[in-house]
Amino acid sequence: MPYHPEKILVEKSALGYRFCQEILNSYKSVPTETIESENSRESSKDSALSLSQGKRVLYLKEFKGSAFKLCPGYSENVLCCNYYVLDLVENCPLECSYCILQVFLNRPLITFHVNVESIIESMIREINQYPNRPFRIGTGEHSDSLALDHIFRVNPYLVETFAKLPNATLELKTKTAAIDSLIGLEHGGKTVVAWSLNPIEIIQGNEHKTASLQQRLNAASKLIDNGYQVAFHFDPLVHYPNWESGYSETIEVLFDNIRPEHIAWISLGTLRYIPKLKQIAEERFPKTAIFSGEFIPATDGKMRYIKPIRRKMLEKVSGWIRKIAPGVPLYICMEQRSAWSKLFSYCPASPQDLEAYLNTNLNSDRNA
Ligand code: SF4
Repeated sequence: MPYHPEKILVEKSALGYRFCQEILNSYKSVPTETIESENSRESSKDSALSLSQGKRVLYLKEFKGSAFKLCPGYSENVLCCNYYVLDLVENCPLECSYCILQVFLNRPLITFHVNVESIIESMIREINQYPNRPFRIGTGEHSDSLALDHIFRVNPYLVETFAKLPNATLELKTKTAAIDSLIGLEHGGKTVVAWSLNPIEIIQGNEHKTASLQQRLNAASKLIDNGYQVAFHFDPLVHYPNWESGYSETIEVLFDNIRPEHIAWISLGTLRYIPKLKQIAEERFPKTAIFSGEFIPATDGKMRYIKPIRRKMLEKVSGWIRKIAPGVPLYICMEQRSAWSKLFSYCPASPQDLEAYLNTNLNSDRNA
């Protein structure tokens, strides 16, 4: 069922923005409270709600910070891909047991930064300073990119704005099949829609409220028919008793539905989490078993599978993908250079090299 808020909290300074007014007009039947600022009494009352209760409240605010920034995962210790994030939404109506947002967000409400146009204007000013540099920019860092678009209606605006930007590609990451707002847009080949994939048993046991594997792939096919490129993220890869058959079958199903030439890139990343997440997630999802694997603390403070498990999973899954789709750029997220050299015949020398490699399959670049 699409998300429907039980309450809307709106800051006074947000009321003048078009996106805010459109939401308030469409959700007149939802109890709405206007507040002075995020430090006001009403807001702090709602901030104290549990994670599940907080998600039922929609918080509309004007964002005054910098919403466009280098991916927070960027580090000199791992090979990064120069990805940029555009933070328009904080929190997500879907319920993945491993979701980092359960630990990370100060406020459990679903927050939308309604001053979208001024955020985008400042992003454009920034990327215009580097006209010869390609930017890959995603909105799926603090939420699912599509799960709330029936309310925010922000993606049509983003897609059509990016269509006019010569040096930027938008990536919308999702676990839904909510693609209706993208059909028929003038996207100019500048938007890639990406699905996170996992075997059916992991989706059913850990990715609650998301679309099934087949629904995700049907949505991808429909967007391909509409001229979009798609991408896939096998992230997090979860180690469980039947992981080999689970992932090899998932890859078969992927390529039974999607031809490699429509895929811009595929990423791989094994499950990692900050230690605090385990207790929170196990309390919220008592049936999950994914934190019971063989994890050790890594140098970045996150828990990761022991090296032999990580290496075996990455080797196997990349091998199955390579066999069917040797030409699709394949990358591992937040791994050291040594992992690249062991897994692949190439190892990008720098984040810029990795970025250039990921852009090789982009239609917009090939046609430029
Ligand atoms: S889709 Fe992403 S942001 Fe949403 S709950 Fe799942 S992991 Fe978290």
